[in-house]
Amino acid sequence: MSTLEIRDLHVSVGDKEILRGVDLKVSSGETHAIMGPNGSGKSTLAYAVAGHPKYTITSGSVLLDGEDLLSMSVDERARAGLFLAMQYPVEVPGVSVSNFLRSAITAVRGEAPKLREFAKDLKAGMDALSIDPAFAQRNTNEGFSGGEKKRHEILQLELLKPKIAVLDETDSGLDVDALRVVSEGINRFRSREDTGVLLITHYTRILRYVTPDFVHVFAGGRVVEEGGPELAEKLEAEGYEAYTKASA
Ligand code: ADP
Ligand code: MG
Ligand code: MG
Repeated sequence: MSTLEIRDLHVSVGDKEILRGVDLKVSSGETHAIMGPNGSGKSTLAYAVAGHPKYTITSGSVLLDGEDLLSMSVDERARAGLFLAMQYPVEVPGVSVSNFLRSAITAVRGEAPKLREFAKDLKAGMDALSIDPAFAQRNTNEGFSGGEKKRHEILQLELLKPKIAVLDETDSGLDVDALRVVSEGINRFRSREDTGVLLITHYTRILRYVTPDFVHVFAGGRVVEEGGPELAEKLEAEGYEAYTKASA
């Protein structure tokens, strides 16, 4: 059982305050959705939790199983069991998908996986996500389509088996087929592993495939409403206008 606990988190970029007191608790076995309009600070939350140097924590805390995540290096956070899939994943020229994934597993476990075991897991993961075998030899994220980037993220999930996974806009840029494959991957993962999932999204459509236990609405850098899956349906019908007006 793991818990990610965010307490009264305030985050600035430069001298601009973007997160204005975020409280959120995600435990293993739970799926939370953070929904909100563009510019409400959803990605800033993901970057701050990930330890991106551009995002300054001005107050508040983030704990993973009671340990202070914010004092950990990015690698230490991964070793502690945190996984973050970024809205705009970086290209890693000259490093194949296969080598990238093996290095990531090595970093998280503290030792390299046996080659044969890794090859077997990689193949099983790729098969489950309908990824072409040749994909493993491509340079990481270089020239990937939207669908390939997101499949690659879910492949990382499958192989790294984190305690808490934060997925930022995993649904953006996906056509219906890719959305289904990616959603099935998330569902397979969360049914098998005892993992907490924080799904960040602007759109409600992924939530038709991946049903969240909790929905948090973000506006103006804070959580402005919380509820169950029915809240996503309300947002689909009514949009974010009521929240953006109230937080302006
Ligand atoms: P969302 O993911 O909800 O669309 P973001 O977290 O990307 O929102 O952005 C929230 C606000 O913070 C926006 O006004 C955005 O311009 C600003 N912001 C985020 N990251 C940066 C950055 N690296 N530099 C400058 N401004 C940023
Ligand atoms: Mg506050
Ligand atoms: Mg974003």
